[in-house]
Amino acid sequence: AHVGDLVSSNLGSIPDFPEPGVLFRDITPLIANGPAFKELMEILGERYAGTIDAVAGLESRGFILGAPLATELGVGMLTIRKAGKLPGHVIGVDYALEYGTARMEIRPESVRPGSRVLVVDDVLATGGTANASVELLRRCGAEVETIAVLLELEAFNGREVLAGSGVKVESALL
Ligand code: 5GP
Repeated sequence: AHVGDLVSSNLGSIPDFPEPGVLFRDITPLIANGPAFKELMEILGERYAGTIDAVAGLESRGFILGAPLATELGVGMLTIRKAGKLPGHVIGVDYALEYGTARMEIRPESVRPGSRVLVVDDVLATGGTANASVELLRRCGAEVETIAVLLELEAFNGREVLAGSGVKVESALL
């Protein structure tokens, strides 16, 4: 199957979550579909084989997608988490939300300087989370060229935000 078909035929939409007026795109059906999930990882594994040294997943759905991709590729898995979740020495980047701010953190010792890191998440919206994560990885000395997502919510212009940081967005589905 085509990767876009795998995603589109296994995607849910939940109105008014997490707040009224928001249509939440739900990957739960996809990851619950064993054959579809496996095929998705095989396709993405072929796409990125030999081009990256580590996968960085963004908490928390980026972990679900990133970890099996990392094992498929035979590379390490990095976790970029919301503030206060990682133990030990961490560095963080704050970024703006529609209301307020958020902060993503990483353990810099987990990143090998000069390594090529693929950022993975389920959905790209404004690009704020991904952009902060790219900045974190680069501060650790990683080379970040691409972020892979299943779904891009085009209206939020995340792709442009990331282009400003010199990062290419690869999405299974628009
Ligand atoms: P951004 O920072 O690009 O505005 O938001 C992206 C982050 O919020 C991602 O970590 C993503 O998981 C989450 N997110 C935003 N909207 C949705 C959505 O409709 N569905 C899902 N599954 N995640 C979303």
